[in-house]
Amino acid sequence: MPQIIDGRAVAAYVKNKAKSEVEGLFKNDMPVCLVVILVGNDPASCVYVANKRKDCDELGIKSVEYALPESTTMEELLALIEKLNQDKEVNGILCQLPLPKHLDETKVLETISPLKDVDAFHPENVGKIMTGKYEFLPCTPAGIMEMLKYYNISAEGKSCVVIGRSNIVGKPMAMLMLHSNATVTICHSRTENLAEVCANADILISAVGKADFVTADMVKDGAVVIDVGMNRNKEGKLCGDVDYENVSAKASMITPVPGGVGPMTRAMLMCNTVTAAKKQYGI
Ligand code: NAP
Repeated sequence: MPQIIDGRAVAAYVKNKAKSEVEGLFKNDMPVCLVVILVGNDPASCVYVANKRKDCDELGIKSVEYALPESTTMEELLALIEKLNQDKEVNGILCQLPLPKHLDETKVLETISPLKDVDAFHPENVGKIMTGKYEFLPCTPAGIMEMLKYYNISAEGKSCVVIGRSNIVGKPMAMLMLHSNATVTICHSRTENLAEVCANADILISAVGKADFVTADMVKDGAVVIDVGMNRNKEGKLCGDVDYENVSAKASMITPVPGGVGPMTRAMLMCNTVTAAKKQYGI
């Protein structure tokens, strides 16, 4: 059986460190504050926002929420973001995605100050990931890198395959693995011979969004398998992209779903908020 990469344990470790930093800042009159903007009442988004509030409470970060109606206009939303950008008491700003269709997501993300961009979706922060000189990383790839570090999994010289090329997971993930000196292949829906390509990976990272997508024949013996997917199976239970039972027979290490990447994504948002605060306080 493979070693389970325990995202909950690593997240607890990371959050503990962040909590000490928050306490230290607070003692020096430097409180940390995260603002979350939610437009509309998408049920999944409401759950994510509630979780963020819970994490902030646990760490002593002040959390402020703006729950705006579905009918919010672009002008109203941008005006709020501009106001928060100027507010010295606000360290991090996050706009929960997806936004209602009438709102221009790109414009919204570009309006958040890069200094307060705790999701790291602003083009300036995205660009910095390319050069490797970044302050903020998107939470999911950042969380995966933390897990690899915690378990002493070196990517140096290894073959890494990332399935998925989204801006929030696949692309930044691939770039971070490249910075870690892995030989990186990015796969997507047009990739030919996907199973064959994946079966060469020492580290296989799946961010597709389809249950049971990664089957045992796609996995090399002894590979490290990181499952980013968050899906519902036929029974309605939360599951990842990986056929966990069968892939476990081949992998040396594997992340479960739930309890793998998900808790790390949450934890890294807290770390990014602390980083933003420290930068704004000139630390
Ligand atoms: P996304 O934007 O929908 O991207 C999915 C990617 O998968 C795309 O690049 C797509 O290729 C690729 N893909 C789809 N079908 C494929 C196929 N048959 N063969 C190969 N590649 C295929 O999704 P995302 O935002 O990156 O998220 C991916 C998954 O991770 C979702 O389940 C999401 O819920 C989950 N997620 C989890 C966390 C967490 O904290 N655990 C965080 C973020 C996301 P094309 O580009 O060619 O269309």
